[in-house]
Amino acid sequence: MGARPPLDPTELARLLRQRRELAAPALFLGATTRDEFMARVREIGAAGPREDQEGATAPPRAVKSTPGPRPGPSAGERMAARTPNEPEAGDRAEMDYDTLRDHAMTCTRCGLAETRNSVVFSDGNPAARLVVVGEAPGANEDRTGLPFVGAAGKLLDLMLASVDLSREDSVYICNVLKCRPPGNRNPQADEIQACSPFLKRQLALVRPEALLAVGTFAAQLLTGRDRPLGRLRGEVHAYEGIPLVVTYHPAALLRNSGWVRPTWDDLQLLRQVMDG
Ligand code: SF4
Repeated sequence: MGARPPLDPTELARLLRQRRELAAPALFLGATTRDEFMARVREIGAAGPREDQEGATAPPRAVKSTPGPRPGPSAGERMAARTPNEPEAGDRAEMDYDTLRDHAMTCTRCGLAETRNSVVFSDGNPAARLVVVGEAPGANEDRTGLPFVGAAGKLLDLMLASVDLSREDSVYICNVLKCRPPGNRNPQADEIQACSPFLKRQLALVRPEALLAVGTFAAQLLTGRDRPLGRLRGEVHAYEGIPLVVTYHPAALLRNSGWVRPTWDDLQLLRQVMDG
């Protein structure tokens, strides 16, 4: 018998949605599908450009090259020129969704404002059951203004579809940092501190049933634990009373196929949490 063609994530999500609408019992995908999942990860990794595989759970890297300043005032100059009405972090805790987003789109609270092309606020449904929190925009995200595009985005879509979720209707996606660190270096502590009030308010406004943190930075920030990702995954945490599962970042899976199987297990744990 010939090999079956790889699963299409959109088609899989549609079929699983049909089952849910028909009130079919929860479907936990078996070993064959896990094998297909792993094969599809390999396929996406082989097809994806290298820039999709940067960032997220990588060991700290030196910045190879920092883009030169673009025309216009520097972030420091813009920060100095900030109007007295620009809110402090505490004020963001009161903002409604649209106001929060508007403030993020013009934010200059850290140096990343100087080198970004886009502020990457979110994608998906703000009334979602699940929020996925990643690390920071990469090159594709900085170009498009959307989180998780390119090969890592395809892989995230596959991960979500394998547990009957899709960014179109049931998932909201955002990052710890809204602007791309130059050269896709790791986020710095001061940048996380400056940006995390946005994330905190996003999560308070969306108030999902569950959270999935992908990658070390999101996992450590949301769990409040300074441990390697491998020692945080595999259990259900809580963030502000919301169940939280952590797993590897899709970009990291593209670099290390040994993490695909544990990621599968984490997704099944997430599905169990969401099924109550
Ligand atoms: S990373 Fe966050 S804090 Fe820094 S400029 Fe962008 S939106 Fe503002």
